[in-house]
Order: sequence, then structure tokens, then C-alpha cells
Amino acid sequence: MNLFDVYPINPINIVKGVGSLVYDDKGTEYLDMYGGHAVISIGHTNPHYVKRLEDQLHQLGFYSNSIEIPLQQELAAKLGKVSGKEDYQLFLCNSGAEANENALKLASFYNGKKKIVAFRKSFHGRTSLAVAVTDNPKIVAPVNETDNVIFLPWGDEAALEQAFAGNDISSVIIEGIQGVGGIQVAAENFLQKIRSVCNEQNAVFIADSVQCGYGRTGKFFSHDFAGIDADIYSMAKGMGNGFPIGGIIISPKIKPAYGMLGTTFGGNHLACAAGLAVLEVIERENLMQNAADVGSYLINELKKFEQVKEVRGRGLMIGIELPEELSNVRKDLLFKHHIFTGEAKPNVVRLLPALNLTKAHADRFLEAFAAEVGPR
Ligand code: PMP
Repeated sequence: MNLFDVYPINPINIVKGVGSLVYDDKGTEYLDMYGGHAVISIGHTNPHYVKRLEDQLHQLGFYSNSIEIPLQQELAAKLGKVSGKEDYQLFLCNSGAEANENALKLASFYNGKKKIVAFRKSFHGRTSLAVAVTDNPKIVAPVNETDNVIFLPWGDEAALEQAFAGNDISSVIIEGIQGVGGIQVAAENFLQKIRSVCNEQNAVFIADSVQCGYGRTGKFFSHDFAGIDADIYSMAKGMGNGFPIGGIIISPKIKPAYGMLGTTFGGNHLACAAGLAVLEVIERENLMQNAADVGSYLINELKKFEQVKEVRGRGLMIGIELPEELSNVRKDLLFKHHIFTGEAKPNVVRLLPALNLTKAHADRFLEAFAAEVGPR
């Protein structure tokens, strides 16, 4: 049997990782400025993480959600403490798409409404409702089309007010920083405006924090920069540092929905152990502060390059817009300098490294970048 062909694959076989470095099967070292797409939050093979997962695997790998799993409560308490959202409630699932799917569903159970406001260039995942609120020409499926989704231009307050004119909006879903859409930071006053129209009509504010959350921007949720609380935050990626785990945290105003949400694997023992290890390392090693510090250093340095058109982002979620002629930079960084980065558009380089990226590794990236795009 062959694999179903879904991804353009680079012919590199990564077999080992330590911190922000990974190694291929020939022993070549690569600097990982992409973190497997924002998944590696505390670095590859972090010793505390490995130990906690290993210990858990020796004790119990899985038992069903029909029994009490104290690790889930432990994870909820820790997440409340590290995120500052102590009065929220946690529901655990397995991926970002599933987290958003559940958030949107829960919103409609809560207020009985059907319409969803989403934004142009958003990415929320590939399950049916997540695709329906995603605006990406590469991710479409006729079966997912629904009249219930209204797409608005990014940051357009007038369009937002107009969408709310019918008093039938169940939820608004927004990434605090659009990731796949090219690292676009939501304006603080726009997020505040969404908060206030949602309040007026009891609509649910869903903060998709799958890519921009979990400390990556220097605050736990990037929406925190606007000084507002969302009703539901969806999370995945960095939550498990590679172990599949996703979740939503839900404001206390939304009551539990017994039987409405559920999943076999969500919140299993191993996933909880991974989730706890990640939060323990973020807390102990002050990784949100490191993301803020090394992130602003990188952003400031990148802005100095003559060829760079724009640098967008916060903390360690960075998009570097280059002229079209420099669309090869990502490939050159990978094949000439052995540095993994991500793509938003061919001329936008996306950086999503581990939150404990060192300044020395940031400098190693800047040096290679200078070799390809010219002087600062
Ligand atoms: N939301 C955002 C903002 C994302 O970036 C992604 C993944 N790129 C998802 C949701 C979907 O997450 P997953 O692939 O875990 O389903």
C-alpha cells in the first residue's frame, strides 16, 4: 500500500531532536524555527516531559472516560493557574479542529442561535464545521458549505455591526493573530468591539488560540493583549509538545452540556501527562517571558533588513514579508543553512519556534537570513 498523497514532502528524514535542534538520518543538524508548525512549545525531547510521559506509560496508558481521571482535574487546575483563567472550565479533545468544532457547537447549544461570524483568510481546521468557517482556497469541500457562516473582512467594524443587525449571531470565531493567513495581528480595538457586540446580543466570543495561544506571544492568549476575556478559547498544538491533545476552556456563564460534547481519546492519561509536563516547564522556566524577550529581539532585528517589506507578529509568532523576487528564501534557508521555517505565502516566512528558543539560536537564524536577503 502507498500513502495517500496529501502533502508536498521535503526529502528529509528527521530522526532526532533536542531543544530547538533536530537531526536527520545522516546526522545533519537543523535549527528548528518552525516547531513542527507551532507544536513544539518546550523544545524537542525536554527531559521533564520525557520522564513524565514515560512514567505515565509504565503506570497506565489509557482507560475510558467513564471513570474518574484525576489527571484531568490536575491539568485543568494547572491550566487555570498558568493562563490566569481560573474560573473557566476545561473540555479535552484531540486536535485544534476538534476544539473549534466543539466551541462552535457549544455556542449554539448555549444561545440557540445558528449564524457564525468568521473572517477572511482565517484557518480553523479541516473537520466539517471548522472548514466551513475557514477561508482558504486550498481547503474547500462542497459537503461543508453552509449558509450559516458570514465571512467579514479582517478588522472591519462596520461590517461587524451589519452582520449583527439581524440579532441571530450565535458566535464569532477569531484568531488573535491569523497564522496560516499570513501572520496578521488583530487590532486590540477590533477585539474589544467584537466583545461588546457579543455582549449586547448574548453571542459567544470564540478565541481560536490553537496557533497564537499557549504563551507563544508572551501572554498566554494573544487575545489578552486587548484586555478582554473571550467566552471560549480553543487550544491544541503547543498544548502537548507533540502529543495529540486539544481542548477548549469555557467561561463560567456557559453551563455544562452533559452528553453534548464527548470523545473517546480526549483527556486520556497520556495526553494529560503530556499537557501537565508542558505547563510545568512553561511555568518553571518562565517561558512566556522568554518568548516575549527573544521574540522582540528577533522582530526588532528583522525590521532592520533593507529587503524586508514588513515584520508582523508578537513574541515567537513572526511573519516576515519579503519582495516576490525573494520567494526562494525559505528553500535556501532549509537546504543551504539547514534551518526549518514555515510558509504563509511564498514570500512570507513564518517563524514558530519553541518558546525556549535561545538568543544564540535567534542570532544563528539572523546570520543565515542575512546571507540570503542582504544587509541590515
Ligand atoms: N486553528 C488554527 C488557528 C490553526 O492554525 C490550526 C492548525 N494549523 C487549527 C485550528 C487546526 O488544528 P489541527 O490541525 O490540530 O486540527
